[in-house]
Amino acid sequence: MTKDELRQRLEFYQDLGVKTIYRRSVTTVPAPPIPNPQPPVLSLPTLEPTQDSLLTILADIGDCKRCRLHEARHKIVFGSGNQEARLVFVGEGPGADEDQQGLPFVGRAGQLLTQMIEGTASKEGIPIKRPDVYICNVVKCRPPENRTPQPDEMEICGQFLYRQLQAIKPKAICLLGSTAAKAVLNTKDGVTRLRGKWHNWRDIQVMVTYHPSYLLRPYNQSAKKEAWEDLKKVLHYVYD
Ligand code: SF4
Repeated sequence: MTKDELRQRLEFYQDLGVKTIYRRSVTTVPAPPIPNPQPPVLSLPTLEPTQDSLLTILADIGDCKRCRLHEARHKIVFGSGNQEARLVFVGEGPGADEDQQGLPFVGRAGQLLTQMIEGTASKEGIPIKRPDVYICNVVKCRPPENRTPQPDEMEICGQFLYRQLQAIKPKAICLLGSTAAKAVLNTKDGVTRLRGKWHNWRDIQVMVTYHPSYLLRPYNQSAKKEAWEDLKKVLHYVYD
């Protein structure tokens, strides 16, 4: 394994929330004659799921109790849409409607997201509907009182999000709101600073825009225009 491959592998573990790696086995290349001894070749156990699929990830989540958010949830909201989508939207976490139905973005914010996707696509002559994309959240269980997920909850549940994104391998990801941006881009910057520009996650283009629930507030109407602009950019990049 080259240095670069080792670095990439370790970064992958870090994204999964793995903080400590043990050397389970070490294979030593037979020592060449002195004076040119070669360093030992490190053989790391492979944690990266091979041929991961959404079904495997769902099965791994199971009746998850890995963080405190399981305590008040009714249903785990895994994600929905095209499993081979070229575009994935990531929100923060389920709300009350989503928690009841087990589906992401089905409440008022979800209806606005559908309008935004389908309305923009239709205006721009791009023949896609909501079921053509994939939609999920950073955390899969509803935070009490719709509070923002806490860092440890995002870290634990985020491993499933990363696996979903890796399994789908979309052409672009659209992050809705600052929680999704923080989880995927590992940044403290807010949406205003991040939106409208391309970012990158594991060689996938990433756009950040406002969460639809923010756009539902009457005093945020100028943000709505910006969100539509962001979406237009993403849709053209993915489907042109
Ligand atoms: S939020 Fe994620 S990690 Fe926490 S209990 Fe739900 S599925 Fe498990």
